[in-house]
Amino acid sequence: MPQTGPWTGDPVWLADVLRAEGVRLVAFPGWRDRGHADFKDIRGVMAHHTGSDNASAASIANGRADLPGPLSQLHIARDGTVTVVAVGVAWHAGVGMYPWLPTNMGNWHMIGIECANSGTSPTAPHRTNWPDAQYDALVRSCAAIHRRLAQNSSRTIGHKEYAGRAQGKWDPGAITMDILRGDIESRIGAVSKPAPRPRPPVPVGAYADILLFRGSEGPQVAQLQRHLKYAYEAYAGHLVIDGVYGPQTEAAVKEFQRRTHGLKVDGIVGPATAAALNLWVGPPAA
Ligand SMILES: [Zn+2]
Repeated sequence: MPQTGPWTGDPVWLADVLRAEGVRLVAFPGWRDRGHADFKDIRGVMAHHTGSDNASAASIANGRADLPGPLSQLHIARDGTVTVVAVGVAWHAGVGMYPWLPTNMGNWHMIGIECANSGTSPTAPHRTNWPDAQYDALVRSCAAIHRRLAQNSSRTIGHKEYAGRAQGKWDPGAITMDILRGDIESRIGAVSKPAPRPRPPVPVGAYADILLFRGSEGPQVAQLQRHLKYAYEAYAGHLVIDGVYGPQTEAAVKEFQRRTHGLKVDGIVGPATAAALNLWVGPPAA
């Protein structure tokens, strides 16, 4: 049964709520149509630093050779300008865990905010190298999103809290998350101390359209790689069968999708792609 409520669907309301919160907002061309997939229910916000003080909104929209954009929904420059680059799913979270997130599925549930910031170091004191304007824009953006979703500030987490263990992430650097959450809560104010909204559990089959994707690991990935490598040697013969769904595997899946009529070219192995590949992705047959 589809879940309904303010948290469902892509956050097409992002620009409006951010403007209403008083941030200086830029809408990146094509922002409404950009994304790797559609959101599941939106559970919160994940804060990041880009790793460079100069990373542009365009770099977040376009991505890199090894990781196609969008890399997050929002970008915040050091002068506090917030750019909305996408409302669909973006590759910002990767694999990781958090108590109210399905393991490794953060991208399908979290709005990502990439802040142009080097992060300084994992141990730098709170707000080292964070200009007032940039930090204020981060607080306002999180507050605006949580208010829209009837959430409190506990729903802002750092990439380091989700993927510190899984990926060694330490962003956002020089941000003490509890202090940030306190500042967001003050900003949200009394209008948002809602009783925790009962949230339906993820229904069985909710991820049936997503079987394997960038960041997946294990024997099913190895099976996919083996199949691509030997059946589609022309463009997948170089694949290493290591069971890790990295950029090479994703590129090979995309190439297969591009060459196969009727498949969406998204680099995600769902039921249609798995069927076209003749790939068994369930438990092994007896
Ligand atoms: Zn990050």
